[in-house]
Amino acid sequence: MSVTLFAMTCGRLTGDLGRLMEGGEDRADLPIPAYLIEHSKGTVLFDTGMHPDCQRDPAARVGTRITGLFSFDYRPGEEISARLEAIDRDPAKIDIIVNSHFHFDHVGGNALIPNAVMVVQRREWEAGMDPESAALRGFNRADFDLGHKVIQIDGEHDLFGDASVVCLPTYGHTPGHQSLRVRLPSGDVVLAADACYFCRTLRERRLPQRVYDRQAMLASLDAAGARIFFGHDGEFWRGVPQAPAAIT
Ligand SMILES: [Zn+2]
Repeated sequence: MSVTLFAMTCGRLTGDLGRLMEGGEDRADLPIPAYLIEHSKGTVLFDTGMHPDCQRDPAARVGTRITGLFSFDYRPGEEISARLEAIDRDPAKIDIIVNSHFHFDHVGGNALIPNAVMVVQRREWEAGMDPESAALRGFNRADFDLGHKVIQIDGEHDLFGDASVVCLPTYGHTPGHQSLRVRLPSGDVVLAADACYFCRTLRERRLPQRVYDRQAMLASLDAAGARIFFGHDGEFWRGVPQAPAAIT
């Protein structure tokens, strides 16, 4: 069973590296990745980038705490629906959204993918639905509670039953963070999302300043082992072919 994997960039942020990686200095260029996976039994998005309101008035959408931490470079045409249309894919025909977690730069584009089923870890969904923990984690219910059918999973989950696309629990960054393992003809890749922001996060085990559970997050780094696609690594991302080129 073969799958095709495409990478798309749904805008960029610039943020203070010291907050994102222990001992980091200067500002970091942070691409916002989203991935399309095509399988004979269905199409999957892994993360959906930011809500298009962030193109016009990010503070109104995400609040001034976040706009104080990041500057936004996000233009019309970079939102997930436009990225799909640019390669002749219909956003209304995406079958499944797998959200790594509920931060605004991973789930904001769900609004543009109307007919998909969301597959999320139960722990993340529960944190998102509880007003107190959602506020604590910086989740905005308007990003993900949009009437999509939701499948809540616990831990590892094989999407198509053939081991080609598998959700991997990588808790720590948030209560129910997950990564996605995709089996390409060339071997397995792991789309880490924010389990691992940067190549250096893994190599030097330097976590972000604020995470939900440091020990769990460190343990999730050990669970890797395949070719890893980092969550927001500008240098790494420059080497990743963008759709319509497939990742091989
Ligand atoms: Zn992120």
